[in-house]
Amino acid sequence: MSPQDRATRVRLIEAARRMNASGINQGRSGNVSVRVEGGFLVTPTGVPYESLNPPDLVFMREDGQREGTYNPSSEWRLHRDIYVNRPEAGAVVHTHSPYATSIACLRKPIPAFHYEVAFVGGIDIRCAEYATFGTQELSDYAIRALEGRRACLLANHGVAALGAELEEAFATAEKVETLARMYWQALQVGEPVILGEDEMAKILERFKTYGRA
Ligand SMILES: [Zn+2]
Repeated sequence: MSPQDRATRVRLIEAARRMNASGINQGRSGNVSVRVEGGFLVTPTGVPYESLNPPDLVFMREDGQREGTYNPSSEWRLHRDIYVNRPEAGAVVHTHSPYATSIACLRKPIPAFHYEVAFVGGIDIRCAEYATFGTQELSDYAIRALEGRRACLLANHGVAALGAELEEAFATAEKVETLARMYWQALQVGEPVILGEDEMAKILERFKTYGRA
């Protein structure tokens, strides 16, 4: 996809707006990007998604140059490093969705309290170590926590999710929020039973072929 492709830019803006509608975005904290030829397109900082137009997106080139009127999201390093380290990633969604962020503030992973945790790629959803927002350190910790996973929590911060394309990254970010909410709710009334590694291995095996013809 060319970075100038209008349809791609429109889809990115629609995804950014959908974050507000779905409740996974809080204020202007969320941001979205999509891989294109020569780099990636990312939502700019400080522009409400309602008034965002296709030319307002920032094109971040692989050589570090950027094209656009506005500054990129302050988490552009996180987006860049996911594209560099995860060749399968075609899109990245970053949110401060409330339930997942609440768990991230405990600096704890979401364990296998529900089999759908495997949807994210492993036996738990890890929480990356804490680092100041927008820093290289934050990005480094996130890459580590994302190993073998499609999403992770960011300590005292939020969520990072990736997917082969926009829909998938978005669905994963939403799934993390739903799971975090269920985990939080279960904790209110007792101690959730955590599925064993053998059971999760079985589920992970099933998920490999799930939804495929
Ligand atoms: Zn953030």
